[in-house]
Amino acid sequence: MKDAVLNTGARMPMIGLGTWKSDLSTMVKVVDSAISSGYRHIDCAAVYGNECQVGQALQHSLSHSAVERQDLWITSKLWNDNQKAEHVRPACLSTLADLQLDYLDLYVIHWPIAFRHGVRSPASREDFVPRNELALKETWLAMEALQKEGLVKNIGVSNFNISHLKEIMSVASVVPSVNQVESHPYLQQRELLGFCQQQGIHMTAYSPLGSSGRSAELRSADERMILEDATIQRIAARRGASSAQVLLAWQIQRGVSVIPKSSSPTRLAENLAAALLELTEQDNSEIAAINIVQRYFSLSSWFGAESPYSLSDVWG
Ligand code: NDP
Repeated sequence: MKDAVLNTGARMPMIGLGTWKSDLSTMVKVVDSAISSGYRHIDCAAVYGNECQVGQALQHSLSHSAVERQDLWITSKLWNDNQKAEHVRPACLSTLADLQLDYLDLYVIHWPIAFRHGVRSPASREDFVPRNELALKETWLAMEALQKEGLVKNIGVSNFNISHLKEIMSVASVVPSVNQVESHPYLQQRELLGFCQQQGIHMTAYSPLGSSGRSAELRSADERMILEDATIQRIAARRGASSAQVLLAWQIQRGVSVIPKSSSPTRLAENLAAALLELTEQDNSEIAAINIVQRYFSLSSWFGAESPYSLSDVWG
């Protein structure tokens, strides 16, 4: 497995297993299957509501295989209602208890948006922290304290644009190790990737396959599926690979790690094998030339009339 070397010197496997919307009843089977097929990186989040099940699955795999805790890379994310400095450590401890771990390899601020403490999903304007009270710098300093204490080995962010990154870096003693953002050929994130690379921040692509498991709430009527894109399918046919493998190999070759979610043992193995696929310059330039822009993750309830945040506040 290829690794990304982070700015702390830590090595994070370039392919991880996403766990958003993973089926709770098959979690043990999926994690076992992932670990036995070679996955060593698992992407979790408190808001996915399944960290207890992931924790049980990890315990099961660790006790039934030769794999040890230090062989695994476990990421989790601080939810939007816990950004106040005093809530950061308790949130991290709660995630650690759920995952049955005593440290995380990576802990990231999930979004540059804040909800009132205790709000998982906002239902009205009152559930949001107003924009002028958003205190990403304080949150970041509290994340640094977690790292210093040893509860987390690396700290990072997610869904941050260049100006959010500059904001926290203006007070940071520790440069974020990772920025996890949506990315695929319909959302290439070239400017953000260039900035991150310049600053030594590794980029991870979420929804690298177009998040086809999303509920209807997250789908737009004219949505195009990246797995069915003609250019991707043509390259896949040329390379004797699947479309999913082309999407993942493209990111890995440009230095971006990926965290595809799958519950199928066959697709888990297929996705992992993308690390072995070498795309040519021609393949990469055909992908770079795709000029469709589509963001799969866009919750209207977060950015609609009830919200103090707009899409451009978040994604610039
Ligand atoms: P993905 O792009 O990983 O797509 C997952 C979907 O693709 C599932 O329906 C899965 O079905 C299917 N799939 C998986 N492998 C293949 C394959 N080889 N061929 C065809 N279909 C396939 O979407 P996600 O949105 O889940 O993103 C991945 C992970 O990123 C999440 O699980 C989560 O961990 C993280 N994430 C982070 C966010 C953030 O804000 N930081 C936001 C969203 C996601 P099946 O399971 O049946 O195989």
